[in-house]
Amino acid sequence: MSQSEARSQAVFEITTGEAIITGKPKSLEATWAADVFTLAKMENALSKSAFKAMKKTMETGAALAPDIADDVAAAMKSWALSKGANYFAHIFYPLTGASAEKHDSFIVTDASGKAVTEFNGSLLTKGEPDGSSFPNGGIRRTNAARGYTFWDPTSPAYILDTENGATLCIPSVFVSWTGEALDKKVPLMRSNAAMNTAGTRVLELMGEAEIAPLSSSCGAEQEYFLVDATFANLRPDLLLAGRTLFGTAPPKGQEFDDHYFGAIPERVQIYMEAVEGNLYRLGIPAKTRHNEVAPGQFEIAPYYEAANVAADHQQMLMTVLKNTAKKHGFVCLLHEKPFAGINGSGKHVNWSVGNATQGNLLDPGETPHDNLNFLLFCGAVIRGVHLYAPLLRAVIASAGNDHRLGANEAPPAILSVYLGREIELIFEQIKSGKLDGAGKADIMDLGLSQISPFLKDTGDRNRTSPFAFTGNRFEFRAVGSQQSVSGPLVAMNTMLADSLNWIAGKLEVELAQGAAKPAAVVAVLKELMVEHGNIVFGGDGYSAQWHKMAVEERGLKNLPTTADALPYFNDPSIKTLFETTGVLSPIELESRYEVYAEIYVLSIAVEAKLVIEMAKTMIYPAAMSYLSELAAANSGMTAMGIELDTSVAKKVAEHADAMLVGVSELEKVAGQAEFASMDEHLQHCARNIRTLMDEIRVHADILETEISDKTWPLPKYREMLFIK
Ligand code: ADP
Ligand code: MG
Repeated sequence: MSQSEARSQAVFEITTGEAIITGKPKSLEATWAADVFTLAKMENALSKSAFKAMKKTMETGAALAPDIADDVAAAMKSWALSKGANYFAHIFYPLTGASAEKHDSFIVTDASGKAVTEFNGSLLTKGEPDGSSFPNGGIRRTNAARGYTFWDPTSPAYILDTENGATLCIPSVFVSWTGEALDKKVPLMRSNAAMNTAGTRVLELMGEAEIAPLSSSCGAEQEYFLVDATFANLRPDLLLAGRTLFGTAPPKGQEFDDHYFGAIPERVQIYMEAVEGNLYRLGIPAKTRHNEVAPGQFEIAPYYEAANVAADHQQMLMTVLKNTAKKHGFVCLLHEKPFAGINGSGKHVNWSVGNATQGNLLDPGETPHDNLNFLLFCGAVIRGVHLYAPLLRAVIASAGNDHRLGANEAPPAILSVYLGREIELIFEQIKSGKLDGAGKADIMDLGLSQISPFLKDTGDRNRTSPFAFTGNRFEFRAVGSQQSVSGPLVAMNTMLADSLNWIAGKLEVELAQGAAKPAAVVAVLKELMVEHGNIVFGGDGYSAQWHKMAVEERGLKNLPTTADALPYFNDPSIKTLFETTGVLSPIELESRYEVYAEIYVLSIAVEAKLVIEMAKTMIYPAAMSYLSELAAANSGMTAMGIELDTSVAKKVAEHADAMLVGVSELEKVAGQAEFASMDEHLQHCARNIRTLMDEIRVHADILETEISDKTWPLPKYREMLFIK
């Protein structure tokens, strides 16, 4: 079957196919965390003292004694065996952004050759993945290739089920033989600790008597597209690059806004229910689901959790979304921009910090102006975003996310903070040195007797801001849909730690001079706002006016591409930030730049190769076969004395030619191998290669609108975007 015949066959199969029903789920009680080794399960399985120690570690991060690990391993093993698991695996999070795993069986043989199971504290605690091929940015050379995984007891172990078996999964950190972090979990845990130390210092100065450990929380809203697998299988670009490199806009797109929050297609809802069932078993609190703006685009948001656990769960959620899609005849696209001209996908990372004694420190309460702790923590965020905006931009930089951030799409590549009118007013007052409580929460009264009046939120929503305060947390809206949330969380926790330390230093001086607490807080925050208030912006972040004002008047940075953002990893101020907070050593930081730069370069190289291959072997042949069809018709007609219009043939020939010219240019440009530096190589990808790819696409997309539908080899946007 030719590719174009396969395309019509796919349309037929999809329109006549039926939804895959996997059966109604069991009650929430029966499913919830059924596959997780929870504290509740440990309480039954462990001795009282071992349980107490584990609970303390999970809740406060306290160190765990080695003999406790033996007890936990024994309990974990018998639980896992009872669930049918023959294997265990340390799960870790290398710098690729994906999850990695190495499986080992519980089985060993005894002297008589009989299989017995073995699992103890040291097997639980330490693993040694032998692959030396994880990206490490030069830290771990192949001649010193040892790497270790160490159990993270604060993130619960779980069972991963397949039709044929089960594996006990143990969340772990991944470090080099020399102890450097090779993963995304170590810095996340360190950043949380740094934030805890600095935050505690501030709370102590504020006279808090009892201060429980502070921890950051994360709730991530995940956007994704679903495409029928039969279509995706006919598109090498979707399969290998995760996005369409060619394709004209459909006659109807998202202009009616009829998809956002619309009725979920039944087939998709059945898929979502299957996803949620799987997540509940893994103890992942899926909470919200809805249609997104673009046709074929959806969102899932779990309830927020401690950042370290939320980050592990986010990785699992992406895997579950993809694996479940396959069973339902879909491919789940997590790419930031699968379809040109149609809204892309992001991951809004909701982030707050708090503890058991003071609660959420980003909750303004009903009278924010006299909630000094809130003002200090919120001020610390403002300073952090202003000082470390390039870092926040760098941690969300990727080839995929460039299509959103640098392309006048949501959200902009210029970092700013949205506070909402009420909080913004308070900080404006602080900047002028007084604070009189002007911003009290309003009552909203709809004038309906059936609906009681309620307290208004302290601010509206601003969907154009990359970093928005949303009532009791900040929402980092510019994170890419396929990215790990760890990078953004590390950046946010670390900048907060740095700012809280700065605040503590200033507060100490004010208080030592005898200032009362409120006056000291206002004095410190006044200085902070004078220096950093420029980052606060409540207007339209997409407008051209803002782009100009931000850069020219406020001195903020516009970093449209990964090539512009990534080099900030090497900036001295970023190096100092990570070194002083103890989150990343200079070597670890440098290695991250190397790895992320390499990933960017490789991603663009793959796309360029695909563009070349698809243009030459699929699109050009379609153009030629259509041209010969037209030529045959034309000569037949001429024989009968009928003159045919040749404008279509000319147009097809012209764009097919121009496309080939672009292709040979791209072959040359993409083949360049020598660069003075990695920074230069990045720029080459962002500017030269990407530009040529776009030029080739223009011609190919025109061809799609001219060539007969039955000849066209690739499933079209209008077919893929609307789920039957
Ligand atoms: P939105 O109104 O922005 O669409 P949603 O209700 O879809 O918000 O979800 C926002 C996310 O923010 C959820 O994951 C939610 O659990 C999370 N969230 C709520 N409160 C907090 C908080 N204090 N800290 C961190 N995340 C939070
Ligand atoms: Mg939101």
